[in-house]
This record gives sequence, structure tokens and C-alpha cells, in this order.
Amino acid sequence: MKTKKRKISIIGSTGSIGRQALEVIEKLEDKFEIIALAGGNNVELLKKQAEKFKPKYICHNNPSPAFQAPSPARRSIRRGKGHKLLYGSEGLEQICSNKENDIILVACSGKIGLKPTLTAIKNGIDIALANKETLVMAGDIVMNEAKKYGVNIIPVDSEHCAIHQCIKDIKLVDKLIITASGGPFLHKSVEDMKNATVEQALAHPRWNMGKKITVDSATLMNKGLEIIEAHHLFGFDYDKIEVVVHPQSIVHSAIEYVDGSVIAQLGLPSMHIPIQYAITYPERFEGIKSKSFSFSEIARLDFEKPDFEKFQTVKLAYEMGKIGGTATVCMNAANEEAVFAFLDGKIKLYNIYEITKKMCDEHTVIKNPSIDEIFAVDKEIRQKTKEYILKFI
Ligand code: MG
Repeated sequence: MKTKKRKISIIGSTGSIGRQALEVIEKLEDKFEIIALAGGNNVELLKKQAEKFKPKYICHNNPSPAFQAPSPARRSIRRGKGHKLLYGSEGLEQICSNKENDIILVACSGKIGLKPTLTAIKNGIDIALANKETLVMAGDIVMNEAKKYGVNIIPVDSEHCAIHQCIKDIKLVDKLIITASGGPFLHKSVEDMKNATVEQALAHPRWNMGKKITVDSATLMNKGLEIIEAHHLFGFDYDKIEVVVHPQSIVHSAIEYVDGSVIAQLGLPSMHIPIQYAITYPERFEGIKSKSFSFSEIARLDFEKPDFEKFQTVKLAYEMGKIGGTATVCMNAANEEAVFAFLDGKIKLYNIYEITKKMCDEHTVIKNPSIDEIFAVDKEIRQKTKEYILKFI
């Protein structure tokens, strides 16, 4: 029997998650039809993807003069080759209001993911969500809208995807347990961490990811952001969300039911698995699975309590999450600007936390912000953070 293909668009197709999603789709080509691919500035890759996957639309965001000049990539995109070229945030809006889509994978990084996600929700399109900022910046609004329009938000991040897979009856779940690999500084001294080079911070022991998220994993801010996302996705109080360090990254997260039963989701650390789960949900296919899971090969699983004195970012995230409103917007914006400054060699790794904390301490929180207020706070904090960073140079 021939089944109907699932129609999908990918926002952020040239990024780490987007590329892996296309690998999954290639393997399951009879299951998917790609409506649109949206990439950032990597036009060459976007062009290659368009040639291979033949979407109806492609959307790029490269305003640089180099792209304005005739290049083979641009010429071929312009010639159309069966797909229509869209540009920038208007293009993303157009993609996300196209009701042909059954699901949209939001895999771009940064706040650019927020508005298209809301547009897709308003159009009743399910979301596979990999973009962190969407929930960290506007979790209340996004989840309320999803409920209102009856839209599924299926998390792609391995931890939330694990919890999504474990939950059968959410009312009976007492606690969420989020695992953290601990990153490259887990058993290093605070001094080592303070003086870490960009190279050391980017050497993540388990996951191969984009630079921003890899630095966030080294400071554990990534876990902080995930706690906030989990709070919104599953509607749990922060006191009911626990973090445990698990260096092997085999247990991707777990839940505890009211009766004390713990259900965990395990798997080899490959992002293909959660991506595939999210875009094929509620179905499951063999897909891209490369290796069968073996407990005896893994041999041991370790767990330990996170050192919140060393990784103060997690503590800060709990605090800002509990305050709510624009507190998490502020933390996210300050952290991101500080991470960029670290990657540019302007500050030390440990300064990221200090800078973020200072911005949070000085921020006057708006309790129930509108989307416009959220973007205004984001802009203001980024500016303020950049000015403050100058003091470190
Ligand atoms: Mg994660």
C-alpha cells in the first residue's frame, strides 16, 4: 500500500540539525516531500540541497555584496530550476503560512526562529522544534498558541525528545530528570575552566554541534536553557526538573512517575535519532539507524550530581526561569553576546557567566511580555552586553 508522503519544510537546512535532518529524509525518501528549505548565508550548500531534494521554495538570508554579485550559486538559484526563491524573514513567513506543510522543522539558531514558529502554529502546522530561543524567549506565548490551534510541538533536542518518548500520561509524572554530559570541563578545575581556550571549549567529548551550542555545553548554559524549555514544553515547575550529569550520553533523559517508577530513554549519542523521531512522530521507521544498541558494549553508565558552584550558569537559569517573563530573554541575549565575544577571543570562558549574571541582575523584568516587548528587551540587552564587554578588552 502506498502511503501519503508527509510534507515538510526545514528552517535552517544548512545548519548542523538541518543537514542531519536531510540525511534522515534522504533515507526515508518515500515518506517525505520537501516543500521548502531555508538556509542562512551558506548559499552554496543551499543550492546543492535544492538540486538534490527539489523543494518548491528555497529561502536564503545572504545580504552580502558577494551574494549580490553574479555567482554560479546565485545564477542557478535565480534561474529557478523548479523552485521559487524567497528571501529573509518575509520568505520565512511565507513558508510558515503555507498550509501545504504537515510539519515544519525549525532548526535555525537564534531568535530568528520565533516569529516563523508562531506563524506556523497559527496556520495549524505541527512543529518539530530544535530552536532553543523559541521557548526560552517566549515559552508562555508559544505554548498557549500551540494549545489554542491544536498544534503539536515535538522537541528535537535529545533530552526533551527523550522525555517526550517516556511520557505516557503526563498527569502521573512527578519529576523530569534531564541528563547532562558535563562537557569538556566536567572533571577539570575551576581554574582550568576559567582559562580555557576557544579550542578547548569547542572540544565536546560526545556531541558534534554548532559552535554557539558547544560553548554553551562547556559552561553548562545549554543545560540551563534546556531546563527552561522543559518547563514550557511539559508544564512542570522548576522544582520538579532535575539535572544529573551523565558523561556517556547514553541515557538522554528520564521521568519519574508518582509511584516511583523511572522511565528513561536510551540510545547511542546520534542526533539522527531524535530528529527522525520528531519529524516522523507518531510513526517510527528504521531509517538512518546504523548500529544496534548493546548494553554489554557500553558496559557502564555513570551519574553524578552537577557542581553548581563550578557551573553557576545552571543555577542562574533556574533563578531566571522561576522569575519568568523577560528574565529568560535577558539571560539568553546576554549569554549569546558573551559567547560570541568569547569565540572572537575578546573575553575568557568564565567571563560569559559573569557578564550574563550582571545583565540579569540589572534587568527590570516585564512579567507578561508581548512578542514586541520580548524583541525590544532582546535588542536592548544585546546592546548593553556589547558595551559592557568592551570593558574586558
Ligand atoms: Mg541537548
